Amino acid sequence: MILLPYFCMPIPIDSRAKPASVKVHITSGEGVEIVWADGRQSRFDFELLRKQCPCAACNDERTRREAAAVRGMAAASPIPGMGPSLPMFRPKVRAVAAKPVGNYAIQLTFSDGHSTGIYSFAYLRSLHDELAEKQPQESESSPGRVQ
Ligand SMILES: [Zn+2]
Repeated sequence: MILLPYFCMPIPIDSRAKPASVKVHITSGEGVEIVWADGRQSRFDFELLRKQCPCAACNDERTRREAAAVRGMAAASPIPGMGPSLPMFRPKVRAVAAKPVGNYAIQLTFSDGHSTGIYSFAYLRSLHDELAEKQPQESESSPGRVQ
């Protein structure tokens, strides 16, 4: 008799997306620190997490903004600095509360009042991989920061 593994495990868990330790630095505002089961470490700024909020509303908003940016770029003048959309100033968003959701995610409440974002570890791990792709893997590469 053959038992396929996924019959025993209804939720397939990517072992790389399992955190060994999770720290949410609310008071210092430093962000979320995760050590993954495979030994990798991530540090996510609250601002980044707010921008990458996975909730439906933010997903919609991002899609709309990306579509607008593509349209804007096509119509933009080629002179640098004369683009149609200057980034608006916004105060830095930080988290004011965090709570675990089951054992698979954390929910963050941000200083702008937004709290519907549930960050699954699978999502955070994919974010980690995305960021790691963009920058060279050097762990001590922030000389301006004293811990
Ligand atoms: Zn959201």
